Amino acid sequence: MATLGTEENPLLVAIVGSGPSGFYAAEALIKSDVSTKIDMLERLPSPYGLVRSGVAPDHPKLKQVINLYQKTAGSPDFNLIANVNVGTDISIEELCQSHHAVIMTSGAETDRKLGVPGEDLQGSYTATEFVGWYNGHPDYRNREFDLSHDVAVIIGQGNVAADVSRILSKTVDELKHTDIAQHALDALAESKIKEIHVIGRRGPAQAKFTPKELREFGELSDCNSIVREEDMLLNPESEAELLEKSNIASKKIYDQFCEFSKREADATKSKNCYFDFLMGPKELIGDTKLEKVILEKNKLSGDAFKQSARGTGEIVELETGILFRSIGYRGVPVTGVPFHDAWGTIPNEKGRVTDNDGNIVPKLYTSGWIKRGPSGIIGTNRACSVETVQCLLGDLEKLDDGVSKSGAETIYSILDYKNIRHISFDDWKKIDTKEIEVGEPKGKPREKFTYVDEMLSVIE
Ligand code: NAP
Repeated sequence: MATLGTEENPLLVAIVGSGPSGFYAAEALIKSDVSTKIDMLERLPSPYGLVRSGVAPDHPKLKQVINLYQKTAGSPDFNLIANVNVGTDISIEELCQSHHAVIMTSGAETDRKLGVPGEDLQGSYTATEFVGWYNGHPDYRNREFDLSHDVAVIIGQGNVAADVSRILSKTVDELKHTDIAQHALDALAESKIKEIHVIGRRGPAQAKFTPKELREFGELSDCNSIVREEDMLLNPESEAELLEKSNIASKKIYDQFCEFSKREADATKSKNCYFDFLMGPKELIGDTKLEKVILEKNKLSGDAFKQSARGTGEIVELETGILFRSIGYRGVPVTGVPFHDAWGTIPNEKGRVTDNDGNIVPKLYTSGWIKRGPSGIIGTNRACSVETVQCLLGDLEKLDDGVSKSGAETIYSILDYKNIRHISFDDWKKIDTKEIEVGEPKGKPREKFTYVDEMLSVIE
C-alpha cells in the first residue's frame, strides 16, 4: 500500500461536529501537505454550530466567518454528512474503523449547574435554552419563556449573559432586521419585562464581558444601563488587577461601568438594565413557579487575579418570575469517547485524547470547547484546532495500521442500512438559499427553519 497521506493513500479523517473548531480543523488538514479526505459529521441538517445557533442575531459581523467555512467546504477533499447523530446513528468505534483518525469537535452543548435549591423551578431557565430559542435551534423551538413579568434576572456576567440581557433590553425595531427566529421576535414583542438585573458574584473589575459587548448597553434605544456609583469602589487587590497592562480589557470594562454609573437615567426610556455586583444566588423560591430569588452579598477574598467571592451573610431578595442561569457551558459525553465529568471536557494532551489516567487513546483527537472548556471567542478555536491537527499529522506513522479504509462509503452504508437520512453540503446550500429567500421580503438576512422536518422538506 502507498504511504499514508499521499494521493494514492490519503489520510481519512472524520470530524464530529461542524462548528468553528471542526471547520478550523478541516481547514488546517486541507492546507497541510498531507493528502487528506475529510468527512464532517453533524447532528443537525445545518452546519456551523454556535455561529448559527449561538452568536446573537444582532451581531451579524461575527457570522461573516461562515464565508471562510464555506471556502473550506468547497474543497474537493471536504465532505459534509449532516443530520447524523454520532453515538446513536453511528458509533465512534465504526468511525475509527472507517477512518484513520477521528477529531471530536462537538462543543459544549449544555450548561453548568448553579447548585442552589429551586434551580429547576418553572421560570428558571438556562441561557442555552433561551439563546437556542431566539436563534431558531430545533432543539429549543418549542420552549416557552414567560415574558409577562416586570423583572428578569440573569445570573453571570460573561458575554452570553450580555447577549441574553441585550436581547431582552432591545425593542422589536432593533431586532426585526436581524436573523432572529420569527417565533422569538413575536414573543419578545409581547414582553412585559421592564427591569433587567445582570448579576455578578464578583465585582466590576472581574466581570467577564468584552468591552465591545458592554459598550453596546450604552447605545440601546429604549433601555437605560444602570450601575450604582458605590459599586465602583474597589478593594486594593482589584485596583492592582486593573493596573496590570495585560488586563486592559478589564480596565476598559471597569471604565465603561464607571461611565454608566455617572449617567442620568433617561426617564423616557421604558426599560432599565441594572448591573449588580458582589451577589450570588442562594435560593430560588416559589411554589411551583419562580417567585423570588434570594441573593447573598459577597465580598472578595484572595490575592489579585485569584480573588473569589465569599458570602457575607447579608441577604437581598429580588421578586422575579423569570431568571436565566448564564454561568458557562459544559460539554456532554459521547459514547465511546473518554469524558472528564468534573470538567465537562474530553481529557486530552494538546488535542490527543487520553483516558482519565492520562494514557493516549489511539486515533482519537479533540478540539474546541469540548477539548479545553467553554472559553474564548470564535477565533480562539483556530489556534486550538491547528494544535490538534499538528499532533494528528505528527502521528501519521502510527495512524497507518496497514488496513485499507473505505471512509465515507462505510458511513453511508451504515446510515442507509439504518434508514437514516443524511444531508450533503449541496443539500444544505438549498436550505440556506431558501432561508435567505424567505427572509428577504421581511428585510431579514434570512428566516431560519426551526424544525428539522421543515429543513428536510426543502430538499425533497
Ligand atoms: P463566561 O465568560 O465564563 O462567564 C460566566 C459568568 O458566570 C462569569 O461572570 C462567572 O463569574 C459566572 N459564574 C460562574 N459560576 C457561577 C456561579 N456558580 N454563581 C454565579 N456566577 C457564576 O461564560 P459565557 O458567558 O457562557 O461565555 C462562554 C465563552 O463564549 C466566553 O469565552 C465568551 O467570551 C464567549 N462568547 C463570546 C461572545 C462574543 O464574542 N460576542 C458571545 C457569547 C459568548 P466568575 O468570573 O466569578 O467565575
